[in-house]
Amino acid sequence: MIVQSAPDGGDEFAIFNHLESEVRSYARSFPVVFARARGAQLFARDGTAYLDFLMGCSSLNYGHNPPALKSALADYIAGDGITHSLDLYNEAKESFLQEFHETILRPRQLDYVVQFPGPTGTNAVEAALKLARKITGRANVIAFTNGFHGASLGALSCTGNRYHRAAAGQLLGGVSRLPYDGYLGSTVDTADYLDRLLSDPSSGVDAPAAVIVETVQGEGGLNVAGTEWLRKVAVIARRHGALLIVDDIQAGVGRTDAFFSFEASGLRPDIVTMAKSISGYGLPMAIVLIDRQLDKWAPGEHNGTFRGNCHAFVTARAALEHFWRTDSFAASVEEKGNLLKNRLEQIAQKYDPSRVSVKGRGMMRGIDLKSGEVAGQVIRTAFQKGLIVETAGAHNEVVKCLPPLVIGEDQLSQGLDILKDAIESVIGSLGQGMAKLSRKRARDC
Ligand SMILES: *Cc1c(COP(=O)(O)O)cnc(C)c1O
Repeated sequence: MIVQSAPDGGDEFAIFNHLESEVRSYARSFPVVFARARGAQLFARDGTAYLDFLMGCSSLNYGHNPPALKSALADYIAGDGITHSLDLYNEAKESFLQEFHETILRPRQLDYVVQFPGPTGTNAVEAALKLARKITGRANVIAFTNGFHGASLGALSCTGNRYHRAAAGQLLGGVSRLPYDGYLGSTVDTADYLDRLLSDPSSGVDAPAAVIVETVQGEGGLNVAGTEWLRKVAVIARRHGALLIVDDIQAGVGRTDAFFSFEASGLRPDIVTMAKSISGYGLPMAIVLIDRQLDKWAPGEHNGTFRGNCHAFVTARAALEHFWRTDSFAASVEEKGNLLKNRLEQIAQKYDPSRVSVKGRGMMRGIDLKSGEVAGQVIRTAFQKGLIVETAGAHNEVVKCLPPLVIGEDQLSQGLDILKDAIESVIGSLGQGMAKLSRKRARDC
């Protein structure tokens, strides 16, 4: 192996192109080098400000460097607080658990215990699946079309996306795929289909350990499960001896107004997975909430080195204290979610619904442009105008807005104006392209 010489300057991205693996992804959509961030804004090295409607894919619900969390963390570090201690008892974890109990679990009368798995979402999903299989003695799991649950093997088996699945390089087993709510159109109740399959001993679907579901599919394109459908799925799971796992990694922590995305439907999942915004500061942290009766883990049975990120505990606790002790934050998020909905609908109104429509719930909403190519052009155009926003969906056809939940109305409007202009200019130029094409066709005839 010959070590290639490092690139010399000139190209702003030289070291990334030379040394970072081709696996990098988001960076390709937003090719600048970022230096700082504050609230709803990211600043490039040259000082250019961008409005951020990606927010670490909903890992930064309280914005970049939220002041209350930053000062709590800075104080903790300045006082030589413990950074890492495996899962030893420590004060940072103690305060987080106390706050989580008082502010989140107790008012909602949720009797969960908290497991700290490895620090990423996929770690939480792996732990949840493993526990469900251990408890029930069953191997199969029900997951839904367009679901996204992570990229490690067990979680990837539950993930629908073919591109991500193919990267496993092996068969992904132990999961039966069922159609999500609305997958077969509005006239087919896919929960009935699930019930039918599980009730029929000859359906070919093995009795499941768990049903894993997102209430709003983030990566899958902002598909929203109806309240009735969710309730039905919960009842069906219980009736057939399967645990209900709600993957709240993206839709939770206020993204859909309430702390948990399932609160509106009155669901009581057996297991809940959380990650992304739980630390509130973008620090790696994941938790699995387990119904107290179902905590069948033996000591150390699911282990890992990084299960005690004290800095994340400090910011997670500060976030709960600052934003969740009263209902006012959730109410403000609901208001902003409605504003987002109205503005997106105004944008979509100008077009045929078969071409442009609005999807999502709360502060995770977007515009379905029915074409990955169009959506890709829209986000590139938006980026040139100063907005960072990504696509989601089976064909990357949905422009997904995940503004920080603390964003001011002026900045929210500003971002949506950019998005509106980007959609107008991309669809406008498509229209011109088509008009040209049809004129050319007419001439050719
Ligand atoms: C992001 C995500 C995951 C995976 O989390 P990672 O931290 O990327 O491993 C799992 N489930 C859902 C719903 C997600 O949005």
